[in-house]
This record gives sequence, C-alpha cells and structure tokens, in this order.
Amino acid sequence: MNPELVLDVRAELGEGPSWDGKNGVLYWVDILRGLVHIFEPKESRDTSVRAGEYVSCVVPRKSGGVAVTLQHGFHTIDLKSGKASPLAQVEKGVAGNRFNDGKCDPAGRFWAGTMDMKEKSASGALYRLEKNKVRKILSGVSISNGLGWSPDNRTMYYIDTPTRKVSAFDYDMKTGDVRNRKTVVYFSSPDQPGNPDGMAVDAEGMIWVAHWGGYRITRWNPATGRPLDSVSLPVAQVTSCCFGGRNLDELYITTARTGLSHQALLRQPHAGSLFRVRTGLRGLPTYAFDA
Ligand code: ZN
Repeated sequence: MNPELVLDVRAELGEGPSWDGKNGVLYWVDILRGLVHIFEPKESRDTSVRAGEYVSCVVPRKSGGVAVTLQHGFHTIDLKSGKASPLAQVEKGVAGNRFNDGKCDPAGRFWAGTMDMKEKSASGALYRLEKNKVRKILSGVSISNGLGWSPDNRTMYYIDTPTRKVSAFDYDMKTGDVRNRKTVVYFSSPDQPGNPDGMAVDAEGMIWVAHWGGYRITRWNPATGRPLDSVSLPVAQVTSCCFGGRNLDELYITTARTGLSHQALLRQPHAGSLFRVRTGLRGLPTYAFDA
C-alpha cells in the first residue's frame, strides 16, 4: 500500500478529518492555524475558511453543513463566512486547555475530548454532545484522540495518546453509554514507533491507527491485539485518518509539521500535507451529527 500525496498543503497541525458522502468531499482542519478545509477530490481542489481560533475537528450535520469543536465548545460553522454559532461550551475557565479530536457515533451524537496544550497535566476530558446537551464522560485525560465504533455498533474505541493504548468500551447505541474500559492495542516499543493518535474502523471491524512520530498508519485486529498491516508515510507526525471515496475504500490521512526542526523539515518537506491510500477494502462511513 503506497500512499499518494493528494494535497501539498503543509498544514501546521492537520487533524479531525471526516467524509461527506453526500457531497463527495473531505472535511479536515488545521488546528493551529484555525482553518476548516474542504477538499474536493474530483477537482483536486481544497478551500478553507478561517474559524478565528483553534478548530480541532469537523463533522457533517444531518441537516446540512458542518459542526466543529473550537477551543472550548461545540459549534456550527458556516463554510462560506466562517461564522460560528455555539451549541455547547465546556471548560470555559480552563485557559490552558483546548478541544482536540472528535467524531460522531452511529446514532449521531458528537463526541470530542480536550487536552492541556502544554501536554503536562491530565486535565482533559471526553465529552458527548446529544442535540444541544453536553455531558462529561471521562476525566483525567491527557491528550484526547482516536474515536471509532465497531461495525456491530457495540464497541467504542478511544485513544488517550500518551498511554500508547487503544481502549475499547462496551457501547450502547440507544443511550450512548459506555462502560467496561479495556485495552485492545498497545504500542510496544521499539516495534511500534510513535504514539497512537487518530483512527478509523473498516468494514471488517479492524482498526487503523495513526502513529504520531512514527511515520505510519497500522491496521490492527482489536480482538487479538495484533498488527495486521502497515502503511508507511514520508512524514513523521501522522495525526489521523478517515475512509472516503465513492466506495469508501480510500483512506485519507492528515499529518502535521508543528514542532519539527528546520533539519527535520528538510527531510520531510511534505509534513502537514494530506495523503491518501487505496486500501482494497471498505471503511465504515463517517456518521453525521444529528442536529
Ligand atoms: Zn489527534
């Protein structure tokens, strides 16, 4: 599996991708530049809109348009003007925190978590937004990342990056409740370089995990905890991935250049750009926010 560079855009911190099957476009964000990107594969065209602050993930809405997480809240945002309207605020008094990656579950609830921007304390949390009601689901999170749901809608996957683990919860689609956290994947060193960041789930129930600092995406069987496949990338900071394309068989991959030295950037000039790999199997669709 050879990834292609689809957009040489060199984002500071590309993240939070989602596929809009209705319109055949990929949404993604550059968190540090505060940009929401819309990539149209047919035209190979990317446009972006300024959110005016950190924007950490973007999801399609069932009613049309998109919702995002800004530094301290869930918002809808107009993709033409960038004008955001709040849905729910969290952690308003925690100036050192910001939202990080997020995604919708199969029932259309919007899940997203926060992190300490200095990456020192576990002051982050995972939140769940249902319509306009937000609830804190987990606390003591360091860097909230990597959400996904199994094809049978009975398991939710979650990543707190510094733990080097992918967790699984029993997930109740009807209520959105999660319980019985366990570890399904562990990034042992030196076999698995870097830390787990964003992830995607394929139609066979296998999970694809981005390696921040590890130049790759790996595919895992969550039932055995064993790696099945690996996709190499020419950039170290691989942040997240999302299935897209008409047949949902193309994996879009976001990356970052933030924090890399001048020397490192000479070796990986495309750091921060958008990549794509044809996986030969289908992924699960992006779920839209039900509001
Ligand atoms: Zn991430």
